Amino acid sequence: MAPESSRSWWRRYLEFPLIWKFAIALVLGAVAGLVVGPPITVVEPLGDLFLRLLQMLIVPIVLFTLVVGVSSIGPAQFGRVGVKVLGFYVVTSVVAITVGLFIALAVQPGAGLSIPEGAGEEPEEAPPVSETLLNIVPENPIEAMAEGNVLAVIFFAVVVGIALGVMQQSDSERLRELSQLTRRLFEAGTEVIFLVVRGVLEYAPIGIFALIAVTLAETGVSALVPLAKLTGVVYGGIALQIGFYALVLALFGANLWQFFSMAKEPMATAFVTRSSGGTLPVSEQAAEKMGINEGVYSFSLPLGATVNMDGTALYVGASVVFVANVAGVDLSLGQLLGVVLVGVLASIGTAGVPGAGLIMLSLAISQAGLPFAAVALVAGIDAILDMARTMCNVTGDLTGTRVIAQTEEGMLEEPEASAA
Ligand code: ASP
Repeated sequence: MAPESSRSWWRRYLEFPLIWKFAIALVLGAVAGLVVGPPITVVEPLGDLFLRLLQMLIVPIVLFTLVVGVSSIGPAQFGRVGVKVLGFYVVTSVVAITVGLFIALAVQPGAGLSIPEGAGEEPEEAPPVSETLLNIVPENPIEAMAEGNVLAVIFFAVVVGIALGVMQQSDSERLRELSQLTRRLFEAGTEVIFLVVRGVLEYAPIGIFALIAVTLAETGVSALVPLAKLTGVVYGGIALQIGFYALVLALFGANLWQFFSMAKEPMATAFVTRSSGGTLPVSEQAAEKMGINEGVYSFSLPLGATVNMDGTALYVGASVVFVANVAGVDLSLGQLLGVVLVGVLASIGTAGVPGAGLIMLSLAISQAGLPFAAVALVAGIDAILDMARTMCNVTGDLTGTRVIAQTEEGMLEEPEASAA
């Protein structure tokens, strides 16, 4: 038994609001990173531990929630939700990249800088579309889970969920019973994972401190100064994009205060982990708290974490203009439209892991026929840009989820206003 004093210390820690613990860790981590500099990297394993704890939960949470979600809403409604979610994601990505392009064209970051010599490697060829699509169907679901191939796990879970739904409608009592039993099992799995997420979030402040300290110590202020304009454009653009989400949410009658007070934990987690995939368990928990039905969020959030990257699209738009300025090239309207198209496709193809957007930027740069070496300039501060764009990516997924749930009957049960 723990002595009384240590128990009350622990209880006080648990009762202290999570977001304050996050905020304090963020500020302390930033100060430590900037003041102590590179030696602070000794704390790196503490940050990695946080990332691993989150990653550990991705596959189970996708599998459990999605099987339950799909089996409870049935194939027809699921199909409708799927189409709406995809449509929403594509439209918001186009808005995001356009915002990035326009702000960058207005502010003109990069003018006056020069291309570093001999830097940058040519990007690898993207795999053909047919291969990417075929890979969604796993040859072996266990392998897909072991590799953390989220799209393939989504596919498998959807198929199992539909089968369970069909069994539920069967004339055979035995099949109906088995379907119930399996669903209960997956429901139990979901509850267990959510409990683990709560535990991981109590460790999060330590992880946040370490992640932020290491990122800032490694990037350093000196790298940021010449690229302050680009950083300002990306952060400003993301603030606008979040304003756009707020507008859309308000148009759909959402209580903004409630939405953001529940979204703040996944937003903060995304900011420090720089991984939409890693943030998924926290986003799912937030969607559950918002009263969104599993039938929507169990699909829209993992899909969003894999294919919906508005912040990344915005960053690609802004950085292409930056690179063109560094190279002294004027982008034609045709090139700009090409950037919108490639940017949206690239953001779909971006994995929800730290730094993936930089690879996509390389693709967009070579598509636009711009000199490749200038990407090395952006690479120097990529971690700082990645924090904001990942936060935007996750907020976009939650916005889409909330909006689509609102448009589907019985998919949203708003909590009491005070519950936020
Ligand atoms: N880190 C981003 C994410 O996980 C992807 C990117 O690098 O833009 O959403």
